[in-house]
Amino acid sequence: MAFSLTRIKELAYESGFALCGVARCDEVDKRLVSHFVGGLASGRYGSMEWMGRNLDLRFDPQKLVEGAASIIVCGMSYPLYGKSLVASYAVGEDYHRSLVRSLAPLEHWLTSCGATQCRHFVDSAPVAERYWAVMAGIGAKSRSGMVINENIGGTFLIGGILTDAEFDRYDTPSYFDPCKGCRRCVDACPSGAISEDGTVEASLCRSYLTIEHRGELTPKQAGMIAKAPTVFGCDVCLKVCPYNRISDEPLPDRFALTAESWLEIGTNRLRKHYGDTPLSRASAKMIRRNAACSLGLTYNDDGGNDDDSCNK
Ligand code: SF4
Ligand code: SF4
Repeated sequence: MAFSLTRIKELAYESGFALCGVARCDEVDKRLVSHFVGGLASGRYGSMEWMGRNLDLRFDPQKLVEGAASIIVCGMSYPLYGKSLVASYAVGEDYHRSLVRSLAPLEHWLTSCGATQCRHFVDSAPVAERYWAVMAGIGAKSRSGMVINENIGGTFLIGGILTDAEFDRYDTPSYFDPCKGCRRCVDACPSGAISEDGTVEASLCRSYLTIEHRGELTPKQAGMIAKAPTVFGCDVCLKVCPYNRISDEPLPDRFALTAESWLEIGTNRLRKHYGDTPLSRASAKMIRRNAACSLGLTYNDDGGNDDDSCNK
């Protein structure tokens, strides 16, 4: 039986997703593969050596899920906060958990209607998520690397399901060019990570520096953080993009801290107050390091804050 494209989209919207599209699991475009492999060879991904693992699975979904016929890609919107030292996507519950929960009704429907293979992914499996988002028609690739949807912009998180279910119809890829004549993100990026041709040098990106890069930062890297203070991630290219709107939702209290307060955070407090959020990906020491850079201080952390004896 062919599964209904209309029904899976209804389920996705009922489950809170703003976007849903379905693509056939064809082979991944070879140009993407060579761009990615070239980036690995040139060190574009910094110390994220895990990016180079499971390349055969990343570019061939049928190796990841036997008999994969379709890939369902969903987008969950989040508010873009005007003033936050934490990247907007990380404000709130860890999206790995919340998106998997939202995908569950879709998986349940697929399996109850006869699909035998369903594997969800939320930044968790080797899947070229942005590529598939474009192929499933939920948005187009932009210069800054984000996927932009004409109606809701680029402030959404991607999750999806690989399945052996075949659909009655498929979406068509989004090939519009959202960036015609615009280079706001290229000019605004505090670390010069975005090239005119749309290559993002991950090893320069402040998201990488503040979340993935463990250990000390060079004075140059610290300066990139000081330019637009942040303790976790970076929203600069999202904020300048004309497709995105700053939300008027207030920043939740537990995230509305000053850099001076973040400078005091210890391991216990990070676990207790932010253990259910994406901030748990970083260590308390990294957050203190980022806070110090944001304040233009020389970072000199002997771990003295980590006993948490003074933390609430
Ligand atoms: S997230 Fe920040 S540092 Fe990274 S590319 Fe965008 S503006 Fe540049
Ligand atoms: S800021 Fe302009 S160039 Fe950058 S992603 Fe948005 S539309 Fe494209």
